[in-house]
Amino acid sequence: MNLTFSEEEEAFRREVRAWIEQAMPDDMRERAKGSGGFTPEDSATWHRILYEKGWIAPHWPEEVGGTGWDAARRFILDEEMSLAGTPPLSVFGLSMVGPLIISFGTDAQKKRFLPKILSGEEIWCQGYSEPGSGSDLASLRTTAEDAGDHFIVNGQKTWTSYAQYADWVFCLVRTDPNVKKQAGITFLLIDLKSAGVEVKPMQTLGHTAAFCDTFFDNVKVPKENVVGGVNQGWTMAKALLGHERTMLAMIGPCRNVLQKIKRIAATKTVGGRPMLEDPVWRAKIARLEMRFRAHLMVSYRALADQQKGKMPGPESSILKLVGTELIQELTELTMEVMGENSLTWYNEGVCASVEESIGPYFCYERAATIYGGSNEIQRNVIAKMILQLPSS
Ligand SMILES: Cc1cc2nc3c(=O)[nH]c(=O)nc-3n(C[C@H](O)[C@H](O)[C@H](O)COP(=O)(O)OP(=O)(O)OC[C@H]3O[C@@H](n4cnc5c(N)ncnc54)[C@H](O)[C@@H]3O)c2cc1C
Repeated sequence: MNLTFSEEEEAFRREVRAWIEQAMPDDMRERAKGSGGFTPEDSATWHRILYEKGWIAPHWPEEVGGTGWDAARRFILDEEMSLAGTPPLSVFGLSMVGPLIISFGTDAQKKRFLPKILSGEEIWCQGYSEPGSGSDLASLRTTAEDAGDHFIVNGQKTWTSYAQYADWVFCLVRTDPNVKKQAGITFLLIDLKSAGVEVKPMQTLGHTAAFCDTFFDNVKVPKENVVGGVNQGWTMAKALLGHERTMLAMIGPCRNVLQKIKRIAATKTVGGRPMLEDPVWRAKIARLEMRFRAHLMVSYRALADQQKGKMPGPESSILKLVGTELIQELTELTMEVMGENSLTWYNEGVCASVEESIGPYFCYERAATIYGGSNEIQRNVIAKMILQLPSS
């Protein structure tokens, strides 16, 4: 396993860094110094800039709009964007339903959906979870009844992140209630503008509406919107899982928050000297930085595997588990380092800039160990698939 980048890759890194430097609008660069404050509109703007450059979907095959880069170049772009603190991109189209349509969709689906995911004209969200069906996803109860050339969908999805900004939702729905629960599920693409769809955003403690309840009341969905075949939804869901968990390794966010901690600790003083020179604070910061570096090495290992064409396997659960625990510890340490200033909230207009604020982000990342499959479930996966322990 080679964990160092070649001279060509380093030259590529310099090219990417220089491009981001000039492509990022000034106001965005200013806000990037903080650890929050980007809106869905900022994400859409950055999406458009990357699309125009042709770098919006490096992980897609070239013939459908990818760049043809290997895993190392893709990693470098991600790493440089997170170092520059660019706005997060909506992952549901680019990294979830898009790749699934590429692998399992019909030609008509590829033609209809992929170009608009690339251009950012259509934003997607994920409709898997339901009240009572989260970890035990296969128990989902939203039904899609066969009505000839279309389905009639009824039920409720919950936690649908950013559905209020989305145009389409990819859903798991029950198409056969009379078979083993995993065998009666279908992966369906639903236009959120269809009659009978209602999206209700939920206000959170972090003062954002990051997720929604989404209701379906006799919604008509054409059969051509099934991906991978009727009752093949569980296979589709599993195909997406590894990718979702690898994305949740949190390398970029951890790096950003660590930078912020060090920036504050370099100027804020305790006992007449910068916190960074105080042995107690140094030790706290160093402990988390070491954990972050070890985590980075594990993600480089996953990268090296991908370079050899290996798809993400159960090891992606380790990346999700450690990455999400680390971002929680790092945001907690930021609160500690900021002291009483951490109680101010930029979106209440209390502080002058996002640079001074960590509160909303701290609150949001309390959920990191739940979303994308809870960390208890990741531990079960690691115990069973990697350690091969017998189930109790
Ligand atoms: C911020 C946020 C955003 C989200 N975004 C989306 C989204 O866009 N789309 C979407 O479909 N879903 C989304 N989710 C839902 C998420 O996937 C679920 O919350 C998650 O899978 C857990 O399900 P649950 O909430 O029903 O909890 P439950 O499954 O009820 O779990 C409750 C507790 O029991 C534990 N538990 C359950 N089963 C086991 C077991 N077998 N072994 C050990 N412990 C167990 C869990 O770890 C948890 O601590 C989001 C969630 C959050 C918090």
